[in-house]
Amino acid sequence: MKSIYQSKLFKQLIAAIGVLIILAIGIPGAFTLFYITPNVVEERYHRVMINDVKFLSNRLDWLLAKSLGDVEYLSNKITLSDPSKLEEAAKTLDIFVSSSAIFTGGTVTDKNGIMQLFFSSSQGIIELKHKNDISHRDYIQYPLAKHESYLSDVIITESNPSPVIFVSSIVMEGSQASGVLALSINLWNENNIFHSLVNGFQEKKQGSIYVVDGRGTIVFHTDKKMVGHKIHPDILSQIAENKENMLVNLPMENGKLDIALGKLKKNNWVVVYEMDHEEIYSMSKIDRYMLLSTMVLVVILGFIASGIFARIILKPLEEITNATEQVAAGDFDQRINCKGHNDFQGVAHNFNIMTTNLRVQYDQLEKLSMQDYLTGLANRRYFEYQFQLELERACRLGHVSTLLILDIDDFKKINDKFGHLEGDKALKLLASTLKEQIREVDLPVRFGGEEFLILLPETSLEQGKVVAEKIRKKVSQLKISTRKGNITFTISIGMAGLEQDTDFTCTALNCVGDKLLKRADEALYQAKSMGKNRTEIWKSPNS
Ligand code: GH3
Ligand code: MG
Ligand code: MG
Repeated sequence: MKSIYQSKLFKQLIAAIGVLIILAIGIPGAFTLFYITPNVVEERYHRVMINDVKFLSNRLDWLLAKSLGDVEYLSNKITLSDPSKLEEAAKTLDIFVSSSAIFTGGTVTDKNGIMQLFFSSSQGIIELKHKNDISHRDYIQYPLAKHESYLSDVIITESNPSPVIFVSSIVMEGSQASGVLALSINLWNENNIFHSLVNGFQEKKQGSIYVVDGRGTIVFHTDKKMVGHKIHPDILSQIAENKENMLVNLPMENGKLDIALGKLKKNNWVVVYEMDHEEIYSMSKIDRYMLLSTMVLVVILGFIASGIFARIILKPLEEITNATEQVAAGDFDQRINCKGHNDFQGVAHNFNIMTTNLRVQYDQLEKLSMQDYLTGLANRRYFEYQFQLELERACRLGHVSTLLILDIDDFKKINDKFGHLEGDKALKLLASTLKEQIREVDLPVRFGGEEFLILLPETSLEQGKVVAEKIRKKVSQLKISTRKGNITFTISIGMAGLEQDTDFTCTALNCVGDKLLKRADEALYQAKSMGKNRTEIWKSPNS
């Protein structure tokens, strides 16, 4: 009986499913693995970094242009020559700054750079007791000198530690410059639109994004403390060297840095996207390991699943195959107890019906092949088989056995007178009478026509004669009623026994059997010739 695991079908199923799994996992896996090779990943990161700094610098440019426009617009609303209008200007500026998403405060100077007004979104307008001279500030000097609006670098003063930048514009009255309006942007103010722009961008990104001014001071950074700090001189020199947006690899003390630079058009600010070179690789490495281990896991699980699947399919098949092998070998008692799929249960059910039918038919056939159809007694074939066994047994043990041949006297006449069917009845009645008159171990046989045999094991001729006479007398008393009158009949019996065989040896049992039959037949002939309805024992012609 072969196990399903050794079967060719099992191996083919596993191989087919295995190939499918490997193709299903392998092809997309190989593509993905290629897609996350360090070079491809690096290139992708660089592209994203460049795009990010470009986008951010454009947005900042737009915001700065808007800021400059706002300041220019506001500067036109201010009149410095008439002190009575100063308060009105102050209110306008206060309202503007407190509602602005960019500016946090401001100052107005006269044309000599002497502060006229100071206000902040938190404190409102502050009355100036000492009119400070801030004419040295670049954001005051520049508009006065060039009559153009100006955007300052980052300014950190001792009195105000928070980094600030100023957007300033000349105040014109007629064709005369009368002062400067400078609005401040506090870079630490988290409500500031620049701040939220950079911060929003940084979210969910690796590396860090920040904005520096022309002198390398950080203007915006997600880490507030970094604002106002100077960047690494190497990065600054890269900014100085490169005019366009670009990506540079900078060797630093603790590894390589990949830096995307996005220069603003409005001023000398630069958006810097900085990422540790190793970080890019380690990400791709983790991705690759994750993917590879997932692929291996899926393949292993796939094979286990396919094994289970193949087993589920093949287990009932194995049972059915084994059972059919047993049936082929002649065992009709095979039954399949299949718990598998409905279809298999159907096959198993039909198989069981088939073997049950086979068993019934076989049993019937076996019986028929040994039985006489009319009388139900053993037939000649069965007798020959049993006779042989009995001879072997008797020979082995040295025991006796007697054989009787019975023949209905003048049966032809009965047939002729009462008809064949009535004759059959007589045969059946004789058969049942024989069965009644003998022991269980004795074997009654319909030898052919109206001739019967009885094998009497462990019976001497003397004992056999008693049995024969008993039968003969009983038969002579039988009566069958028919329309044509009663049928009665007699039988003649010939007998022979193993004890009469002086040279009885076990070497030629067939001959012994034939001889016994022949002798019994001769005795029957004797009985017939001596007037029928009698029993004769074979006698040796020499005796
Ligand atoms: P004898 O006393 O010498 O034995 O005469 P007999 O007529 O019995 O012997 P014979 O051998 O001449 O005839 C046997 C008859 O048995 C012939 C045959 O028609 C009849 N016979 C054989 N088999 C059957 C059977 O199955 N049914 C019936 N009804 N008759 C059978
Ligand atoms: Mg006969
Ligand atoms: Mg006869």
